[in-house]
Amino acid sequence: MSGPLSRYRLAIIVALLLLAGIIVNAGLYYQQGSQDIRHGIVEQGLPLTGDTIFSEIDKSILRPLSVASLMANDTFLQDWLKDGERDPSRAARYLAAINGRYGITGSFLVSENSRRYYYAGGVLKTVKPTDPEDRWYFHSLQVAQSDAYDIALDEDMTNGGKTTLFINHRIVDSQGKLLGVIGVGLPQAELSAQLAAHERRFQRRIYFIDHDGRIVLDSAGAGQRKLRDLPGLAQLADAILAGGLEPRKLEYSRDGNRYLLTSRLLPELGWHLLVEQNETRALQPLHAALQVNLAINSTILLLVLIAVLATLQHHQRRMRQLATTDPLTGCLNRLAFLELLPGWLRACERASAEPQLLMIDIDHFKQVNDKHGHQIGDQVLREIADLLRSQLRGGDLLIRWGGEEFVVLVHSHGDDDALAERLRSIVANHMMSASGKRLTVTISIGLCQWLPPETLEAAVARADLALYAAKQGGRNRVCHAQPYHPLDEPIA
Ligand code: GH3
Ligand code: MG
Ligand code: MG
Repeated sequence: MSGPLSRYRLAIIVALLLLAGIIVNAGLYYQQGSQDIRHGIVEQGLPLTGDTIFSEIDKSILRPLSVASLMANDTFLQDWLKDGERDPSRAARYLAAINGRYGITGSFLVSENSRRYYYAGGVLKTVKPTDPEDRWYFHSLQVAQSDAYDIALDEDMTNGGKTTLFINHRIVDSQGKLLGVIGVGLPQAELSAQLAAHERRFQRRIYFIDHDGRIVLDSAGAGQRKLRDLPGLAQLADAILAGGLEPRKLEYSRDGNRYLLTSRLLPELGWHLLVEQNETRALQPLHAALQVNLAINSTILLLVLIAVLATLQHHQRRMRQLATTDPLTGCLNRLAFLELLPGWLRACERASAEPQLLMIDIDHFKQVNDKHGHQIGDQVLREIADLLRSQLRGGDLLIRWGGEEFVVLVHSHGDDDALAERLRSIVANHMMSASGKRLTVTISIGLCQWLPPETLEAAVARADLALYAAKQGGRNRVCHAQPYHPLDEPIA
């Protein structure tokens, strides 16, 4: 890494480490959370809902089924049928007594002998093989001997044509002779409403599939749709229909959502109970929590970064200051000056100016130290540096050259000693606040027009000679250096 990047290397490493930590942490949190949710749905939620539905179905379908079975095996009823169905009102009363129990709305009886259709109101009609409405009866008769009953969805003509789940139970006497079909009707709307209530409560979809793969019951009213026609579910149809009593765990995708599903056989009805849950929706709270988690962690990361950067910048500025400035006077040190010099000279050239170099030395400074002590000497040095600085412009350079020597470098347009004179006089006329006593000091200045290609060393040497002359001349004065002559320069 180079340039500004290396300066921020620590911040970048800290940020990358924290970011990696945040991402790994969020990933693990999400993985664990989604596994827990999935496990909860598949191992607990769906089976428990299945159990609940199973016991509800026991009440709402299996009990009416046992009522139909009891009626079909009722020997009084069988005898009445065999005795020529005298007094039809007896059958009507018998059926009326069943209605209203266990949700049964339409109990009925069809005699094989007379083909009469009895209901709670009496005789409704005579069933005929040619009437499409009566097809169910002849279908019931064809049901294999082993199946005592079948279940079918149909319209109930005794109850305003409402779609009804009919349990059709065959009546067979002790000699195995078929006497007719008796059964009960359960309004589909009420069963669907029960399922809808469960779906709302459990936030899961529930539906029943018959052995042909038709949806016989769901919360929306079955509509006789087939499993194989439903997107996503179609490819699970074989697995569902082959399932037994033990719940099967299945899953599928539809419209960008993932669904978890359990399926089990209800042997009494020959149906499969399906309970499914939208896993994608179940994971939404986890997504939201993850986003909050990421937002909080990113904010913390950002704040840590800002703090690290601010601290780094502060330290860097401080280090730079310590490296480039003289701690006592705040002037540039020689090292910093040499770094700045090439750029400064280019700026001078751009301004079509000449560099002017002032070598400044405090007069009799040793005496100040001797008389007032080293600490006062230090304060005098600081005050003189401040006085010099107060007369310089932004582009000028003030360097602490040695113990009590300063160099000033300015852009000039000729061998003009106005600035040097101003510096000399402002120091000479200044009452030092350093000591409690009245104290003034003076400076001597060697002034030199530096004309590159003359080297800095040569220019400094000329300025030094001029300074020496100023000292010799009585101090507190400005002396001009001898003009530059290329032949004066020592050959390196
Ligand atoms: P001249 O007029 O000929 O320059 O006389 P001078 O006494 O100023 O010159 P000299 O070179 O003999 O003494 C310079 C003194 O400056 C000696 C040294 O102790 C003092 N000095 C140098 N640096 C510091 C400093 O940082 N603090 C203090 N208090 N004194 C310093
Ligand atoms: Mg000196
Ligand atoms: Mg001196």
